[in-house]
Amino acid sequence: MKTYDSLVIGEGPAGVTAALYLCRSGCSVLLVEQMTTGGQILQTSDLDNYPGYPHGIKGYELADLFAAHLEGLANLERLTASVTQVTGVAGDFTVNFSQGDPIKARTVLVCTGAKHRQLGVQREQELTGHGVSYCALCDGNFFRNKDVAVVGGGNAALEESLYLANIVSKIHLIHRRDAFRGRKVYQDRLLSQTDKIQTHLSCVVEALHGSKDLEGITIKNLNTNATEEIACEAIFIYVGFEPITTFLPETLKKDPAGFIITDTEMNSSIPGIFAAGDIRSKSCRQVITAAGDGATAAQAAFVFLEQLHA
Ligand SMILES: Cc1cc2nc3c(=O)[nH]c(=O)nc-3n(C[C@H](O)[C@H](O)[C@H](O)COP(=O)(O)OP(=O)(O)OC[C@H]3O[C@@H](n4cnc5c(N)ncnc54)[C@H](O)[C@@H]3O)c2cc1C
Repeated sequence: MKTYDSLVIGEGPAGVTAALYLCRSGCSVLLVEQMTTGGQILQTSDLDNYPGYPHGIKGYELADLFAAHLEGLANLERLTASVTQVTGVAGDFTVNFSQGDPIKARTVLVCTGAKHRQLGVQREQELTGHGVSYCALCDGNFFRNKDVAVVGGGNAALEESLYLANIVSKIHLIHRRDAFRGRKVYQDRLLSQTDKIQTHLSCVVEALHGSKDLEGITIKNLNTNATEEIACEAIFIYVGFEPITTFLPETLKKDPAGFIITDTEMNSSIPGIFAAGDIRSKSCRQVITAAGDGATAAQAAFVFLEQLHA
């Protein structure tokens, strides 16, 4: 079985940075990604808070630059697959994939980010791809000049509503609380487009309607219990993220929401397993913090490997 100094899981900002730093330190690295380079930034229309890009950068452009940075790195091997299981102990982890042979790794860097949380209403899965979406950037264009709904009150919901406002005819923005949590700059931009974006605060989605494709939704006001039917051809759902840790040992310590608990050096509770980026328990989940975590985790793994060899 082939052995690597480090297995890095995920090619989002955290994983790409970790792989870069480890390779530059002379470690042998297997970088595995189940989809394509970029992670969540592929769902971001414009990043306007990443230093060095004063006029912002498209998510897919930054992802392309990440991919280019990985090209030709000595000591780097890449695999397109899902990690399905990590077992063993520090210095001798065995890793299984959805395809390909298992490998051994001395250290494991978990940079798997998070996935969209579902709303939990009936028919959500059945209508996914038929009007139910978790990515406006991917699917918004299918609903050009149509009425759509967006659910959520954080940055993702607000940012995606602003993106959709350039494409669709009307947006019903539905949030279960009485105020949005997203950045003020987004809230101000929303308020300047009340002709296009209608907000429904203190409301939840009760039902999805339509035979093959979504045709409308029912919302309920939590203060009055009044229900309202809204005709729309798409609903974009942004109600939070779930960490992806099912392939890791059950003994790994996580916070109540399931995010991996680390120290400031990105050490998890299991020696030799490090976590970086959105997957770890922390308050600020951004590209810049994910990249910073990736660099720190790589340095910690390098020191750990040196101690193993000593
Ligand atoms: C709509 C939206 C807008 C955003 N806007 C901004 C913004 O303006 N500015 C900003 O700084 N941040 C923004 N963010 C947040 C930012 O994108 C994330 O904080 C950042 O991408 C986290 O990086 P990461 O590497 O930790 O994880 P991710 O980007 O989630 O990458 C994780 C990668 O791991 C892969 N993976 C998961 N499980 C496995 C497995 N078992 N095997 C193999 N691969 C696996 C995934 O496919 C994914 O590619 C936004 C996010 C979203 C969704």
